[in-house]
Formats: sequence, C-alpha cells, structure tokens
Amino acid sequence: NEFGEYDETPESTAIQIEEFLKEELLNIVGGCCGTTPEHIKAIADVAKKYKPRVPPKIEPLPRYSGLEPLTVFKGSNFVNVGERTNVTGSAKFKKLIKEEKYEDALTVARHQVEGGAQVIDVNMDEGMLDSEEVMTKFLNLIASEPDISKLPIMIDSSKWSVIEAGLKCVQGKSIVNSISLKEGEEKFKEHAEKVKMYGASVIVMAFDEKGQADSYERKIAICKRAYDILTKDVGFQAEDIIFDPNILTVATGIDEHNNYAVDYMNAVKWIKQNLHGAQVSGGVSNISFSFRGNDRVREAMHSAFLYHAIKAGMDMGIVNPGLIEVYGEIPKDLLERVEDVILNRRQDATERLVEFAETVKNKGMEQVKDESWREEKVQTRLTHSLVKGIVDYIEEDTEEARKLFDRPIQVIEGPLMDGMNVVGDLFGQGKMFLPQVVKSARVMKKAVAYLLPFIEATKEEGAKPKGKILMATVKGDVHDIGKNIVGVVLGCNNYDIIDLGVMVPSEKILETARQEKVDIIGLSGLITPSLDEMVHVAKEMEREGFDIPLLIGGATTSKVHTAVKIEEHYKRGQAIHVLDASKSVPVVGNLLGDNKLDFECQIKTEYKNLREHHFKNRIEKPYLSYEDAKKNKLKIDWKPEDIVKPAFTGIKVFENYPLEDIAEFIDWTPFFRTWELAGKYPDILEDAVVGEHARNLFNDAKSLLDKIIKEKWLQANAVIGLWNANTVDEDIKVYKDDSRKEVDKVFRMLRQQSKKSTNVPNISLSDFVAPKETGLNDYIGGFAVTTGIGIEKWLKKFQDDHDDYNKIMLQALADRLAEAFAEQMHKKVRTEYWGYSKCEKLNPDELIKEKYRGIRPAPGYPACPDHTEKTTLFEILDAEKNTGIKLTESLAMYPASSVSGLYFAHSKSKYFGVGKIGKDQVEDYSKRKGLSMKDAERWLAPALNYG
Ligand code: SAH
Repeated sequence: NEFGEYDETPESTAIQIEEFLKEELLNIVGGCCGTTPEHIKAIADVAKKYKPRVPPKIEPLPRYSGLEPLTVFKGSNFVNVGERTNVTGSAKFKKLIKEEKYEDALTVARHQVEGGAQVIDVNMDEGMLDSEEVMTKFLNLIASEPDISKLPIMIDSSKWSVIEAGLKCVQGKSIVNSISLKEGEEKFKEHAEKVKMYGASVIVMAFDEKGQADSYERKIAICKRAYDILTKDVGFQAEDIIFDPNILTVATGIDEHNNYAVDYMNAVKWIKQNLHGAQVSGGVSNISFSFRGNDRVREAMHSAFLYHAIKAGMDMGIVNPGLIEVYGEIPKDLLERVEDVILNRRQDATERLVEFAETVKNKGMEQVKDESWREEKVQTRLTHSLVKGIVDYIEEDTEEARKLFDRPIQVIEGPLMDGMNVVGDLFGQGKMFLPQVVKSARVMKKAVAYLLPFIEATKEEGAKPKGKILMATVKGDVHDIGKNIVGVVLGCNNYDIIDLGVMVPSEKILETARQEKVDIIGLSGLITPSLDEMVHVAKEMEREGFDIPLLIGGATTSKVHTAVKIEEHYKRGQAIHVLDASKSVPVVGNLLGDNKLDFECQIKTEYKNLREHHFKNRIEKPYLSYEDAKKNKLKIDWKPEDIVKPAFTGIKVFENYPLEDIAEFIDWTPFFRTWELAGKYPDILEDAVVGEHARNLFNDAKSLLDKIIKEKWLQANAVIGLWNANTVDEDIKVYKDDSRKEVDKVFRMLRQQSKKSTNVPNISLSDFVAPKETGLNDYIGGFAVTTGIGIEKWLKKFQDDHDDYNKIMLQALADRLAEAFAEQMHKKVRTEYWGYSKCEKLNPDELIKEKYRGIRPAPGYPACPDHTEKTTLFEILDAEKNTGIKLTESLAMYPASSVSGLYFAHSKSKYFGVGKIGKDQVEDYSKRKGLSMKDAERWLAPALNYG
C-alpha cells in the first residue's frame, strides 16, 4: 500500500484486496506507488470469483440530468424549470451579467434550486452581450457548483450558435430550448442532428415558415410535422422530444387572444394522445404578461393555468418557482376571476380581472425552508437536530427540555442520548455517513456545553459513560485527523474520550491511563517510525502490568503489523488494529461488552493466522544478494540531449504564496477518503449511495476553503532547490556549484533486493541520475512546502466552540492544500525553474494522474523509505528557516500539512517500492551513512527482510 507494507507479493496483495472487497471498500488506489503487472493479475484473479454485473434494461422514458438524473415517468410530478437565469426575463439577472457579477448571478441560479426548480433555464440573448461567450462562461461556472449543476440545464437561445456553445459546456443530458421549422426543414434537421449528436433532448417550438402557431389547428399541425421528421428522418427517440405549443398572453384586451390558454391546453391534450412518447412544455409566465407589476395576480394566474394545463397533460414548464401560489390557497374571488380569463368563460372576464387586480395588494410569495419539524415535541426536535446536524435551535430546545426534568443531567441521559442512539444506529447500519456523524457530535457537544453550568450548580456527577478511552498520537508524530475522527465517533456513542493530542510520550500515556482508570488505550500515527513507537508503548504496557485493550490505528498501521509486531509484545491485554472510525464503534463495543472473551479469542486466532502467513511468505520469497541486486540495476542509456540544465541552481524561497493559486491544484479524491466516503472525485458527487453526503460535504468544504483563502487563515511557504549532481556508486552526490569540484551533500539511496523476473531491474532512485563515469553533468532537485503555518489558532477556535466538524474539515483542507502546493511547485519546476518540460500543457486531472515527466519521491515513502534522508534534504534547503517546518524526533514534519521530497527529471524515472532489503545492504548503508547498525535497523525496521 501507499505507506507501510512495502513489499507485498501478488498473493498477499490478493488477500488484502479480497478483504477490501469483503468490506465493500472498493476504493482501490492504483498507479503511483509501484503497481506491477503481477499485482494486476492477482487482482484479476480475485475479481474472477465475482459474477459480472448484468447491465440493466433501460426503459425508454424522458431522462435528463446534471450531476443527478431526472427521469419523468408515469405518475411523476410536473417538472419545474427555473427561469430567473434568463436575461430576457429578468432585469436583475441581466444587470448582473452585464456588470460581470458572476458570483451574484450564480446566487440567482442557486435560489432557483432552493426554490424547487428541477431544471434550470439559462438564456443570454441580449444585443449588448457576446452571448456565446457569456453562455460559455456562465455554464462553466455552474459546472463547478455542485449544488446547482446537480440539475439538468436547459440551454435557451434563439441563436443556434449560442445553443451550440452551451452544449459544449454542459455535462449530463441537457435540454435545448429550442429549435423550430421557422427557417425550413433543412435547417431544422441540421440542428436536430447536432442536438442528437451532443446527446441532448430538444424543445420544438410550434413555429413554421409562416410564423408562430396561435390557433389550435396550426399548433397541432406543426407539432405533428416536426414529430414525423424527428422520429423518422433524424432518428430521434420520441422521449427526447418536448413540444412547446406556445403559451401566449391572455387578458390583453384583444378579443382574438381570449382563447389562447384554451387552445394551448387542447393542443397539449392532442399531442399527448397522438404523438406518442413526446413531452409538452411551455413558458408559463407569458400567460400573465398583461399583469406585469402585480405579482399577486400573476401568481394566481400561473397556478390556475398550471392546474388546468397539467390536467390536460402538460409535463413541464418554465416557471419562477417563487412566483407560484398554492392553487388551493388562492382566495375564492380572485380564483374565480382568474379562471374566467384562463378558461375563456365570460365575455367580460378580462375587465373583471383588471378591475379586481387593482384591489389586491401586491404581496409576493416568500420562499421558506421546511421548518415544520419545529412544531414537533421537544424530544423529536432534539433528535431531528442531532440526526440532521442542525445547531441553530439546540440551545433553545435543550433549555426547553431542561425545564421538563428535575435534574439537568437527565436531559443528557434521556432525550440527548436517545437522539445520539438514533445517530449511532443509523451509522452502524450504514445509513448515515461520517461527515453527518461528526456534525451530529457538534450538536451534542453544544447541548452538553449548555447544560454543564446547570449540572455543576447542582453538584451532580456527570452522565455515566459506557467506558473511558484514552487516545494519543504517539511520540514523534504529529498527524491526528484520524484520531480526532475516531474520538468524535466514539464520543457520539457515549464513551468518555481523553485525548492527549499529538507527540505524546509513552510515559505520559501510561501515567494518564492509570490516573484516569481508563478502559482502553488507543494509539495513532501516520509515519513509519510511529510503528516502532507503538511497539515501544506496547512493551511498556506489558512491563508495567497493564491488561486493558490497546487499539492501533493510522495510515501505516495494519492488521499484519499489529499481529506480527505488537500483539507479541503485549500478552496480558489484547492489541487490535482498527481500520477506520466506523470500525472503532463495534470493536470498542465488543471489547467492553459481555462477549469480550469470545471476541478476543476470535482476534487472537485471526492474528495467529496472519502471522503464520506472513512468516511463511517471508521464507518463501527469494532475495538477491546486495551485490547481485546492484548488478541488476536499471541501466539507462545516458545521452546529453536527455539532460536539461536548470534555469538556476541553488535554492529559491516562496513566502506567503497565494492560497487561491494553490487551491486550483487540489486533488479532492483523498479528501473524501479522509471522511470515509469511498469513491473518486468527481464521480463520487453522483454516487447512488454517498452522492448526497459527498455533495453536502463538498459544499461545506468549498465554503470553508473560501474563508480560509479570503481571510488568509493559513500561510503557505515553500523552498525549492536545484543542484548539480551525479550518482557515485549507490548515492547521489550534490555539488556545491557548477564547477562540480566540491560535494555539498549526499543523498543515500536504497535498492530493491527481491528477486525479479527476467529483464526486470532492481531499481534504486540513484539509477535515475547520470553516474559520474558517464562524464555528463546531471542535476537533482528538492523541495519542502507547507500550508499549515497559523493553523493552531483556528483549530483551537473550533475546539473551543465544540465544533469538531469544522476542526477536522480545516485539517483535511490544509492537508489538501499542502499536496496541491507540492503539485503546483512541481509544475513550476518542470516548466520554468528546471524547465525540462517547457511546453507541458496538462489540465488539473492530468496533473493528479501524474502524466508528466519526472517524479518527486518523498523520504519515508516506498521509493526512499528512510525518513532520515529528510534531515539531509532539510539541511540543503535550510527548510526550517525558509519555511517554518520543523522535524520531530521521528522526522515527522510539523505543521502536519507539509510535504517534502526530491525532484528527478529523467523520463525513465518513476515511483516504485524498495520493498524488503537484506542485512548485507543495511550493513553497507549504515557504513555509508555513518550510522550504527542498530540505528540503521531501527529506522529501516519496516523494510528489513530479516527479524
Ligand atoms: N494527488 C495526491 C498526491 C499524493 S501521493 C494527493 O493530493 O494526495 C503522491 C505523492 O506521494 C508523490 O508526489 C510522491 O511525493 C509520494 N509518493 C508516492 N509514491 C511514492 C513512492 N513509491 N516513493 C516515493 N514517494 C512516493
């Protein structure tokens, strides 16, 4: 895997993959860390055991989509198309677009979504605008707002070129609004074919060469003609056709207009009966155009019109969802007059409505959130707030509940705990996801914080938790997102959590455990040296006579490591690996429950099997001697033209780098993984199971990220270096200057030693730099970046506010920014500072997939597993002074949101895993580095092929 278990065989990889499949964690990360064809084959072998997916039969139904699908089926509701993002229909929107206030224009779109629109109509037809350009720009902006782009877009223009510009931007299946026979059959077909090619649905306006169809007869004749052309000549699916038989304005004072609404409805009825599969739509606000300025009447007209038109078969309409009254709530007298007009029931209908209109006050409808749950009993309200993670009312509801009980503590033990139990159950059943649980915890903590002074005043004991758990990130390590998440989740499940934070020495952990009489100790760590520190803590627990369970978690930890290295040293109690937060609840429940013994036996057996497999594997696996491995190095055919001299050598410091430039480079997939939502971005936003949660999380992330950037919460610093270098034997020597006379620093590299198949080399990073004997002047680079300077203050603020959700969010975002910063700097190095790929043009996705030339391996990762190389790197970059990043005793970087590594430019350079190495190499390496054998073995512990 990416971190700890370096040298997996295909078989053991297969076992792990199988575990993953079993646990339904299909988020397999490929590529960057040395996946070989054998791994792929092993994966394929496992996959063979599972039946292939049977593709579903898809019923021909009208289907549209943005990020989410919208299917119209028999009995589905009328489809509202939001119309406010239309420069011809909304003066406000037009102004925003003209003034290029796109942020505000997006807000208009967002309000449509919130107001209940299921499709968004976008129209940019306005003489003073470059409509193609504005359409493109706006649709692209919408695309990056998942709360808007979840809806299908209706691209609305009377100019074909604008429609086509729009079609090039939208994702999913959009709707073209519109084409018609206005310019004759040829043009009509040409446009229809294009629409089909772009995979969109189409609105056909009832227009022909003679103009707009205003009578019933002309409406149906034109629609029939268009239908035949589309289905027979162009090959359109009938379900992809939407007719708009023109909703024309009534109550204009012109008698010929009086029957317009009725004609429309009759045409709708005819189309639904005769043009099988086709949909019918219309622009609803046209109907009430005579009453511009009188929203009260317009609302009533829209509702009454829709009420009857939908009965006639109208499927969708372009409406302002904010300008519709509930039909049943239109006052009787108004309704009667409105319907007289729409249904053309009286000769004097128009005059009567005009007259009446004067008397009704203009009170527009307000859009309100669904607050009906506020009417419920206090327990229901508390549960609702907890499950939905709503903090707005929690204090007021908690206060209300407090008055119902004798003692404040009963509020916690009663309604709050009941609510949290619902959360816990839903999480356990996989019906709630981590981000929501953390939000719920925030609500719970706020309620408890509110009650605390009352509880203290009555001098009562606190609520009785199910158990006390001490959590700590071990000495030398600074990473704590995972630990924070586990703490929150367990806290939610009524365990009392004592969190000692990061870099906690063993003595402090054990002392606190004893004083506080905890039931379980949980250790966390991310970097490989922490594995060793965990072993140390386990040994200390054994020595001091502890027998409570020991939980092990964090990215480099694994079941195998816990079984092989930790359980052995802690015989009195049970050591157990916890994969993630969702697993922590059942594990802790079992460890503290009645079936504790059974559970521990089960773990013991499982770990024993893992150990046996591990040792067997090790014995069977063949290794080369270090001498032979060196002989089988990667032999690059070194040519002067493959080496580019950097634009500068030496170091370059970047202080306070703009965060907004960095943010563009964020790779979001790992962000969702942090929150235990499985899937790749952006697909995850549409995922059937977690899509909605991913979207909510993503929205929250985006808005916090905005704040971080605008208010400059974090400082981003970087230092990069480019130097003259050559490989000498197994090491890379870095020269002081261009004269290459004096060696400044030496990077010590490790070489793969496991036996490879024929023609597969045993690689070392040193193979990627030209050996001195080639006589070629080669180069190497290095970098250290951080985006974590200043984070503590904000973490504390969220902590003080009992807001774990935002605390974890901030940590996760800072980590994302750090990786993005590394990506950004790497790009600058390739295209500018080293300049060996000056013409590189990769989009963010291609960057994330690392489709560029060169690599940036990080000390502590598989290609260079020795963390101590970071010391050399930091010295040559003067990184501590230049960036503010500090190295801990285990060589973790602090702040945690930091990345450092080396740059290699040769086109053959790639990521790989050194894997396990033999004692002969360790001996040689320790001599080269001037380390004692014992120290070398300690740092390289996870990479040794011997005990
Ligand atoms: N886009 C990802 C990148 C992180 S993983 C993100 O935002 O999280 C990729 C980085 O991990 C590489 O750039 C490299 O620095 C390191 N890395 C990955 N595999 C490696 C290997 N086999 N050896 C050394 N470093 C490796």
